[in-house]
Amino acid sequence: MVFTPKGKHLVAGEWLDGEGTFGSAPAHGPVYHFAIGTVELVNRACEAAEEAFWSFGYSSRAERAAFLRTIADEIDARADAITEIGSQETGLPEARLQGERGRTTGQLRLFADHIEKGEHLDRRFDAAMPDRKPAPRPEIRLIQRPIGPVAVFGASNFPLAFSTAGGDTAAALAAGCPVVVKGHSAHPGTGEIVAQAIEAAIRKTGVHPGVFSLIQGGCREVGHALVQHPLIKAVGFTGSLAGGRALFDLCAARPEPIPFFGELGSVNPMFLLPEALNARAETLGQGWAGSLTMGAGQFCTNPGIAVVVDGAAADRFTAATVEALATVAPQTMLTDGIAKAYHDGQARFASRNAVKPLLVTRSTDRAASPNLFETTGAQFLSDHALGEEVFGPLGLVVRVGSLDEMEQLARGFEGQLTATIHMDSADLDAARRLRPVLERKAGRVLVNGFPTGVEVVDSMVHGGPYPASTNFGATSVGTLSIRRFLRPVAYQNMPEGLLPEDFLG
Ligand code: NAP
Repeated sequence: MVFTPKGKHLVAGEWLDGEGTFGSAPAHGPVYHFAIGTVELVNRACEAAEEAFWSFGYSSRAERAAFLRTIADEIDARADAITEIGSQETGLPEARLQGERGRTTGQLRLFADHIEKGEHLDRRFDAAMPDRKPAPRPEIRLIQRPIGPVAVFGASNFPLAFSTAGGDTAAALAAGCPVVVKGHSAHPGTGEIVAQAIEAAIRKTGVHPGVFSLIQGGCREVGHALVQHPLIKAVGFTGSLAGGRALFDLCAARPEPIPFFGELGSVNPMFLLPEALNARAETLGQGWAGSLTMGAGQFCTNPGIAVVVDGAAADRFTAATVEALATVAPQTMLTDGIAKAYHDGQARFASRNAVKPLLVTRSTDRAASPNLFETTGAQFLSDHALGEEVFGPLGLVVRVGSLDEMEQLARGFEGQLTATIHMDSADLDAARRLRPVLERKAGRVLVNGFPTGVEVVDSMVHGGPYPASTNFGATSVGTLSIRRFLRPVAYQNMPEGLLPEDFLG
């Protein structure tokens, strides 16, 4: 099936034009033209979402589960076309897109199962105490309720799993919140075909069409208007620190400020403890190179920094890393802009006195080759820029003089999505010093693994203190992510016939 995009916006069941068009910028394949979004379309989508909330927000969990499963089925029904246009637009290999589609439909089905169980409702009950002195206590029950229309911004590096029908959309719909997606300009066609799948699911299940709209971008005003629209009650965002911060600030400055759940960037430091490094320096170097270059390093969980204690084992580790990285061929990046940012980051590192190049490869145009640099703990601590994310396959080895300095370095990190300890049993005492520090820094702390690859499960946290995310109490992956779009309400002395149905089933 060859997919040719309509190039329009989907607003509450209607495919609409905008003002002018913008062209897609695929890595390969045809260029398509898409209508540019407008503030008027944003208004229409938000008003339709609010109207839809009055039915969808009060629908049964079984109805919403059926809707989520139908979206997943409709995405699967378009599998080959999604892979084709997704690969053209992003340059990601077909196998990666097939895997990401499985993750996307898996998330939708996982949320369907999750809401059916009802655990997300966190139902609480405090019985009345009519005889309590000096005053009687009323009966109080608590339940989580959906918050209203939600705006979603996907990321360029996950055109399916963190985009139109990605984790944020799945969590919001599961909660009972209509969604308005701002389409990502890096994959507008992929966004459109997934929107078509959602539209088909809306028609099949009979939910209100205002439950989902997709406004393609093409101009920044669309995103600005969306997060500032008074009917939008929260924003789910995955993307860059600069973009996320700009939109977060707009949310905070609204007359009615709303939560902005931004999942942003991270350098995901790894701490290689001495016994582990000594025992398997080469394996660790090869493993790091694989994780660093996976998907051209375009993962928010890419481990960009390895901290090691200086010495012979550190030499073996860096040599093995360089050797493995040198065999990696240039890989296409997601967009011209991301490739340029990578080349700029590489040049920035190469020009710093504080770093020594271990492997510098020049890549051209939209391709990226791996780069590896090295610095000392003291230099790292004195140069804040060395701890900033370079999105792509660029690694930095930080050599420290002692475990004390390693702990000092760990204490200096900003918020991270992940932090990793590589250890053997003889490293346990050193690891015990690091663990309390790292859990204050990161949403996920790993041992003896690499952080790329985020499991979509009940116990996952994909978030962390700022700047990893704008809301450290939340996760954007896993079933706990539904809590972002729910609000606790207490019902006092309410007769059973008046309580929300979710108290009963
Ligand atoms: P991005 O450039 O921030 O774009 C994300 C979305 O925000 C796009 O729709 C973009 O619109 C919009 N946007 C960006 N800046 C804006 C502004 N100032 N005003 C209004 N809208 C704005 O991010 P990306 O390139 O897609 O993703 C790459 C980055 O995301 C990397 O830094 C990576 O580490 C991070 N990331 C984080 C996670 C995570 O879970 N924490 C996951 C994946 C990626 P346009 O379409 O117009 O560009």
